[in-house]
Amino acid sequence: MGSPKTSSLANKCVGLISKWGSAKVRSLRFIHLLAVLLTFVPLAAADGRGRVSIDSSRTQEHRAWAESAECMANEWYPRLGNLLSSSPRVELPDVVIELSPDYDGVAAASGRRITLSSKWVRDHPEDARGVVVHELVHVVQAYPENREGWVTEGIADFIRYGLFEAWPLERFPRPAKPHPYTDGYQTAGGFLLWLEGDASPGIVRRLNTALRGDAYGPGTFREITGRSADDLWAAYVAAVDAPQQLPAETTRFRYGANGGGLFERKDAGAWAEMNQGGEIWRFKEVARTTTYIELLDESRGLRLRLTASEVQLSRREGWSTLYAAGWDPKPRRQVTGP
Ligand SMILES: [Zn+2]
Repeated sequence: MGSPKTSSLANKCVGLISKWGSAKVRSLRFIHLLAVLLTFVPLAAADGRGRVSIDSSRTQEHRAWAESAECMANEWYPRLGNLLSSSPRVELPDVVIELSPDYDGVAAASGRRITLSSKWVRDHPEDARGVVVHELVHVVQAYPENREGWVTEGIADFIRYGLFEAWPLERFPRPAKPHPYTDGYQTAGGFLLWLEGDASPGIVRRLNTALRGDAYGPGTFREITGRSADDLWAAYVAAVDAPQQLPAETTRFRYGANGGGLFERKDAGAWAEMNQGGEIWRFKEVARTTTYIELLDESRGLRLRLTASEVQLSRREGWSTLYAAGWDPKPRRQVTGP
């Protein structure tokens, strides 16, 4: 148990783990996902649980990548075990990931062995780390039979893209076709990310338990969520596509385009825009809805809308994006210009 390999793994991984861990956690979208993360086993796996080793003996040029990816894998492997825990508890086996110069696909898991294309590692070193997480999920899943492929692959990509890579919901594909979630992978991964956060918290663990116990059937999804998958998909698409609401008391907008600047509400009817050039432009607030604030500068004939994510400009053909921006959640403070 306390083998020399264990202690050297812990030592050489400490710096890498803190660097990667913090970067990913910061960008998580949902508070509840932070709660999920808090249930993770911190840092290295405890003795008695499986370890991941990456065998780069056939592709020496990828040794540095393999060492770094091995640290990441041993940080995430026990987390995957916690995320996909079920009763009775499944012990995590030791896993070997072989970097193979003659494997034609990207990667595949078979039992406790993962084959990963060394060509993919060379051409897509960042993506290959995510591939490792996806394949490790399959090792942990250990489902008796792949009955519902879209759920199996959806869970793997929910964890890979939703948790490990911390994608925002908007980035997942939402193809317009019947039962799009049955595509599995990223499409089902985004769906599961939304379900976990909004409509059906705990769904991933319950789907996992059903699949692992060979108890997943045609009615399982509805039993867990109370609604059909098609219904929930429609609600998911509507929620992601809906314009983001502005906080009720929006008084500041910041943007980075054109050298950066700031809109600030002076009083109920007046706004000032301070840009990087030091100029102050004055606007009148002429309309306010739950999704935008409309501003007018009569002397220049400029009409703008501030939304949750951008500044729009009125043109003859309608509203168009002037630049990406966002309301400023920081407490109000005195602004005297740049
Ligand atoms: Zn897969």
